[in-house]
Parts: sequence; structure tokens; C-alpha cells
Amino acid sequence: MLISLIVPCYNEEESMPLFYKEASRVAAEMKTSHGAEFEFIFIDDGSRDGTLRVARELHAQDPRVRYVSFSRNFGKEAGIYAGLQAAKGDYVATMDADLQDPPALLPAMLDTLLGGEYDCAATRRTTRKGEPPLRSWFAKKFYQIINKMSDTEIVDGARDFRLMSRKMVNAVLSMAEYNRFSKGIFSWVGFKTKWFDYENIERVAGTTKWNFWGLFKYSIEGIVGFSTTPLLVAAGAGVLFCILAFIGILFVVIRALAFGDPTSGWPSLVCIMLLCSGVQLFCIGIVGEYLAKTYLEVKHRPIYIVAETEEGR
Ligand code: UDP
Ligand code: MG
Repeated sequence: MLISLIVPCYNEEESMPLFYKEASRVAAEMKTSHGAEFEFIFIDDGSRDGTLRVARELHAQDPRVRYVSFSRNFGKEAGIYAGLQAAKGDYVATMDADLQDPPALLPAMLDTLLGGEYDCAATRRTTRKGEPPLRSWFAKKFYQIINKMSDTEIVDGARDFRLMSRKMVNAVLSMAEYNRFSKGIFSWVGFKTKWFDYENIERVAGTTKWNFWGLFKYSIEGIVGFSTTPLLVAAGAGVLFCILAFIGILFVVIRALAFGDPTSGWPSLVCIMLLCSGVQLFCIGIVGEYLAKTYLEVKHRPIYIVAETEEGR
């Protein structure tokens, strides 16, 4: 039984050795307890620091360590996909390099899958301790909104740390879409998932790669990728404004018939025009967002480009 650990790394030269140490410890334990063999696949996502050097060094020390190095930064989602493609394991786990996803949970997760009932053991954090409160608030709102809009359930607090059976990995690999929102993809493919809760752990070294703007774009990506409800909202806004305009017309006509036609009121007209064109632009923007995603999708660009792997350059 081979277990693949996929670790996307962007500027993680400090965390990687710590991760490797902890993961090897758990791997040694699981070799005795479950007879499991391991491979560690580090995905160097176009890092600017010594991540690739560390990956080469670890591979030289330990042949279980494999790596894929991208030609530039393609993002964590591309890293996960590359890892899933490279993985040879019967069971595959995706986890962060910063030890926010504790490898110590792996034995329990594997037990769940070996039971035969589940194809996936996933994790979620129960607290957002150590995170700016404003970010937590926006995150909570995001999960509320996306779950209202999308048929695919996006679990609040779910991390990308999960252990999957080969069956599920193949299902995820069959979704070769360019705009990848993993939280949605993992949920979309289905399969029975058991959730493991744990408290948020702060990263061991290095800094987070997310800023507010990045998270905002990521959330739009998720909504556009897994729901077409915003298009309905745009259409709904159109209908609403038509009704308002119709009532307005009736009002103006009746008033003119009853009281004559005082030619005042152009300021209100300007306001109405501004409002309506604002709503129009907003709706065109929503449509444009879907069009942009479609455009990127039909180009069929590769999800990532490899510069080097442990097998050579
Ligand atoms: N990561 C990546 N490519 C990126 C950004 C992040 O591979 O463009 C990796 C990063 O190295 C880490 C994981 O994704 O292993 C999660 O990133 P981070 O810890 O910064 O996110 P957070 O835990 O703060 O949500
Ligand atoms: Mg992290």
C-alpha cells in the first residue's frame, strides 16, 4: 500500500525541512502500524527562494521524496492538480507545507478509508484563531453566499488537507478544467467523505501567501466556477427595473392628465438615468465575468508547465 503526500510549495524553504521531518516521523509510525509505504511529492510553484534547492536536497537524501518544479507561479490549485497527476499512491493526501495540516491525523484518516465505507477523509478547522477578525467575517459571509447560490456544497472552514482513495483521485483528475476551485471540485465529484475537525494551527515558518485582494478574487472564482446564480440575479434586476419604470410611467402620465404638465423634475431624471445605467453596467460586468472564464477555458491552455522534476530537467 503506497500513500502519496502532495505538498504545494511557494517560497517554503523554511517550512519544508520541518514538514519533511514531521511527515517522515508519521510515515515511520504508519509503516509499522499499517504497513504503508510513502512518497512525498513537493510541488515547487515557481518559488523565488530556495524551495527547489531544498527539494533537490531532500530527494538526494531520501528517494521517497519526489518533486515537480513549475516554470513560474501557477497557483496552489495548479500545484494540487500536478501533484495528483504525479502521484502513484493507492491513497493520496494533499497538504500544506507549513504544518497547518498536521500529518499526525493521517493514521486516523487512513483507518477511515480502510474501513471501506468512505472514499475521502477531509479536514476542517473549527476556529479561525490567529486570523484577522475582518478576514474571518468576510470568509463566513463568503461561505453563506456561495452555499445559497451553488448546488455544490462548499463546507465552511474546510481545508485542502484530505486523504483520498485512488477512485476519487481519478475522478478529480477527470475534471481538467482551467479555472480550478479545489474546494468545489472535491465536493462536486461526490463520494462519501468523513470530516475531521481540528483547531486552527498557525504556520511553523515563513509567511502566508494570501492577502485580502487575493482572497477576494479567489472567492469570485469559486462563485463563478460553481454557480450561475449571479446571471439570474442580473436578469432579476432587469425585470425589477422594468416594473419600476412601468409604475413610474403610469404615475407620470396620470399626474400630467390630472394636474397638467409642469416641466420640472429633470434632477430626478438624471438620478434615475444614473441608477439604471449603473445597474446595466453591473449586470454586464457579471455576464462579462462568465464570458472571461469561458474564454480562458476554451483556450485549453495547460494548467501548469513543468521546468524540472526529480527525474531530470
Ligand atoms: N501555495 C502555492 N502556490 C501559491 C500560494 C500558496 O503552492 O501561489 C502553497 C503554500 O506554499 C502552502 C499552501 O499553498 O503550502 C497554503 O498557503 P498558505 O499557507 O500561504 O495559505 P494559508 O494557510 O494562509 O491559507
Ligand atoms: Mg498556511
